[in-house]
Formats: sequence, structure tokens, C-alpha cells
Amino acid sequence: MTFALHGIPVSKGIAIGKAVLISHAALEVSHYLVEVGKEEIEAQKLLDAFEQVRLELAQLRQSLPKEAPPEMAAFLDVHGMILADPALTEKPLKLIHTQRLNAAWALTSELNDLLEQFSEIEDSYLKERANDIRQVAERVLKALNAQQKDSLSKPELASPSELGVDAIIVAHDIAPHDMLRFKEHAFTGFVTDLGGKTSHTAIVARSMEIPAVVGVRHASEMIRHGDWLVIDGKHGIVVVAPDDQLLSEYRALQTKATEETRKLQLLKHSRTATADNVAIELLANIESPDDATQAVELGAVGVGLFRSEFLFMDRNQALPDEEMQYREYRRVVDLMHGLPVNIRTIDVGADKALGAGSDLSQTGTSPLGLRAIRWSLTEPEIFLTQLRAILRASAHGQARIMIPMLAHVKEIDETLRLIEKAKQQLHQRGQAFNPNIQVGAMIEIPAAALVLPLFINRFDFLSIGTNDLIQYTLAIDRSDHAVAHLYDPLHPAILNLLYSIISQAKRANIPVAVCGEMAGDPSLTKLLLGLGLTDFSMHFSQLLLVKREILKADVGLLKSRIPDLLQAIEPEEQAQALENLLA
Ligand code: PEP
Ligand code: MG
Repeated sequence: MTFALHGIPVSKGIAIGKAVLISHAALEVSHYLVEVGKEEIEAQKLLDAFEQVRLELAQLRQSLPKEAPPEMAAFLDVHGMILADPALTEKPLKLIHTQRLNAAWALTSELNDLLEQFSEIEDSYLKERANDIRQVAERVLKALNAQQKDSLSKPELASPSELGVDAIIVAHDIAPHDMLRFKEHAFTGFVTDLGGKTSHTAIVARSMEIPAVVGVRHASEMIRHGDWLVIDGKHGIVVVAPDDQLLSEYRALQTKATEETRKLQLLKHSRTATADNVAIELLANIESPDDATQAVELGAVGVGLFRSEFLFMDRNQALPDEEMQYREYRRVVDLMHGLPVNIRTIDVGADKALGAGSDLSQTGTSPLGLRAIRWSLTEPEIFLTQLRAILRASAHGQARIMIPMLAHVKEIDETLRLIEKAKQQLHQRGQAFNPNIQVGAMIEIPAAALVLPLFINRFDFLSIGTNDLIQYTLAIDRSDHAVAHLYDPLHPAILNLLYSIISQAKRANIPVAVCGEMAGDPSLTKLLLGLGLTDFSMHFSQLLLVKREILKADVGLLKSRIPDLLQAIEPEEQAQALENLLA
């Protein structure tokens, strides 16, 4: 039966494919679709892992010391029995054969189903068995992991064309770094129960140019593995089991969108200026050094925001050391060929958790907690390491340091002191860096916006993080779908705040950009131009769409209509003022 679910549109485009449900546990393991024809090999991997764990358990059982408590042997016996139960292998094997899930993914998918069934059981003894099943499955997963590490080549990933049908991920929630891992895989769309429009998961989905709808409440319960889906990422609609007519309508829309993208490419190399000849700078937001190539290709004149924390979020790896960070920053600097690269120092916390071996692994913190620069200042060695790596990269191009989430003058002072210290350390080591490296501050806390001269007097450039500025001004958790309807970039308080920041910065002659999602939303381009913005930083997928709006805009006219808009506090007045502005 065809039905539609509604959520928050976060990444436009239309995806058509079959649902691949992933459980939270599955996110911890590798997940990819095995190549057509290699299902049998994958199934054998799973069976081998089971066999390996069976041998391990038998060995453990045999080597139990005499004085070991009798429960220990009973415990191993129970695990042996669970392992031997065909129910634990049957479904995963079927998933490998029919859906081409890799072995670890197939097993975690089944594990999740079993755990859910157990959670509904009243009997406390049986409930307890859920833990045993989890432990056994985890042992098998470990064995699978070891197998993968042993094999010399990385798992071969099926390309979308090889898949025959495209796969759409459906999950309760996906953490931003997990989303990034999907980048290497052949998925054509994402649907999640949770999330907000400017959550980092949504931002990553957008940067991957993959249609996504988040905040679809019970999607992961209502959609079944293998269901046909259509995702309309522009309108936030997920159609389940579409009929033939709907499918052909969406296919026609898909073709139209492809044609439009092709036309947009023609704008790539033209100068970016408004119709009344005001030059505008378009910069790119990137999460990984690899994105820099595409940014340049699409005409970005620099990287306005490199979210460096994504280098620190891999749960399977320790935090990167100075050398590794230096290599990554250097890579971006090289790829940008002398154009500026704003490397934003680690912004973890809130919806972004750090990788293995740190206090912020797994959970992150509250958005009001130890996030971004607040965290860096409590970990000066990690911060200094990052600063040295950025400084070293600055010897090879225009690397610049950008600091997130500053609000207090003592944070600014301490940050600048540590930057000087990092320079001294490099000097003592005799390592090259740019002693005049530019240092910028993100303006993303209302307090910072309200005392802007503190920032103007201490930094070389400013970048407005509207995602957080809106979150903190309106007290809306940007990743909470329950309050997503209140997340409003057009709130009069936001518009007035933006105008105040931009005009103060312009008066003081300090460069100011917007690097939040507002900058990449073509429906807001004219508004931002009217507010006086000339530097826009956005995910590269939006560059040409925004450029198209810029080419058509008359800044003189837009500016003349801004005072009315800023004074309009009543909704009707504001709607009218906006309509006049955009007319
Ligand atoms: C912002 O807050 O607008 C921003 C660009 O930073 P992030 O989205 O990474 O918090
Ligand atoms: Mg931010």
C-alpha cells in the first residue's frame, strides 16, 4: 500500500530506491553492499566468524581453572548454545543474499530485531538473555572485524550502477561522522526519525548532494527493509511503496533536476557580481580535504569554513597527531592553490562526538556545554597540537585560523595566548610557519554579536555562524526535530542581529562572511545581499544556485528596502516587507 511520511527537508533532490534499514548498532560496524556475485563469499565470512568464536569459547571452557566459580562454565555453555542456534545465522545469511548487506551489517541488523523482541518480554530471566545474545553477537562482530583487518584490500564497494537498484538508508538517527562514512558508499538517499535542518548530520548530507529527509518521526518503524521509496528532499516527503504513476512522475522530476544542474554548470567560470556590479566572494564549507577539489572546480575563491573536527570524530581511530593533521591541512592548502583556507579549530560537543579515547567520545555534550573553543581551552595540549599543525600548513599557502563559539574576552585572550605559544614552539623547533597568519572569530553566540567591538579589535576577520546564532538566539536545539518548526532564520531578532554585525564590521573595515546554512540557501541570497553581505561561505553543492541569484540581484535596490524589513516586527508587516524586498 502506498503511503507518504513527512519530515524536514534537508538535502534537495529526488531519490528512488529500496529501503535499507540500519540499526544503531549497525552504525558502529562497517556497512556496505557487497558486489553482485560476491554474496556467497560474504556469507562464508559470517560463517567463518561464527566458527572462530565457537572455537574460542570451547577453548575458554577447557582452560577454565578448577577454582573458577561454576557459574562461569554455565555462562560459557549458554553462550555456546546461543552461538549454535541457527536462528542467529539464518536471517543475516538471508540479508546477505537478498539485500547484499555485508556480514557485520546483516548480523547487527538481526541483533537489533532480537533485542527489540526481548525488550517486550516481561519475564526478567528471559530479559537477561538479551545481554547474552548481545555479547555473543559482539564476539562474532569482533571476529569479523579482525578478518577485515587481515584482508589486504579494503572491501570492494558496489558502484550505484552495479547495484541495479539504488539503496536508501533508513535509520532512527545517524551521527554526523557516520554520515560522512556513508560518503564512500553507494547510497542515494537518507531518511531518519530524528534530526533538524541545521543539525550536522543534515549539513553533511547536503554536502554529499544526496536527497535526505530527517525528523520523520517513526520512519524506521513504519518502513520495512526492501520497501520501495521515493525521497523528495526538497519538500520533505518520503513516499513508501509508490505506485507506477507516482514513480514515473518522480522520475520525470528527477530528469528535470538533472537538466537544471547541467545548465547551472555554465555559470561556473563567470565573474561573481550582482547586476549592479557589486563583486561578491563565494567560498566553500568543507568537512574533508577531498572536498576542496570540487570547491575549486565549482568556482569557490577559498574555503570559508573547514570543519576540522571531522578529522577527530572517527570512533575507530585515536585522535590524529600533529603530523597527520599537518598533512591534511596542507592537502587542503595545496588543493586551493594559494586561495584562503579558514581552518576552524575543533568544534566538538553538542551533536558532534569525538573519536576514541576522549571524554567526549560517543555522546558529545549539551549545546550549552563544553563545546568548541570551550573544550579546546580545557585541553590545551590538544589545542596547541592543532594550532601547530595549522601554523605549519600556513607556510605553504593561505591557511588561516578560525575560532568557534567565542563569547568571553578571557576566552579570546587565552586563545590568542595559545596561538602565540604555538608559534614560539615552532620557532624553537626551527619549523616554518607564517608569523602573520590571520586569525578570525566565528560570531555565533548572541553575546558576541552584542559586543562586537571586542572581536573587531582583536581579530583579522569575522565569520557569522548563523546555524548556532539562530540556535542560541531563539533557544532552539538545532538538532531536535521537536522544535524544528521554531528554528526561524527570518525571525526579526535574527535579521536585526545580522544587520548589526555586518554593518559594524563593514564600518570597521574588517572582512565578514556568513558561513552558516543561510549563506547557501538561494531563497535567502537577496536578503543577505540587502543586509550588506559580500562574502558567502557554503557547501559547494550550493555555490552555483546562489551565484545565479547574485547575478540577478540589484544590491542598491535591495539595500533601500532593508530598513522597512528590519522595523517590521508584526508578522503581517514582515511578510509584506519581505515580499517587497524580493519582488
Ligand atoms: C554555524 O554555526 O553556523 C556554523 C557554520 O558552524 P557549525 O554549523 O559547524 O556549528
Ligand atoms: Mg557553529
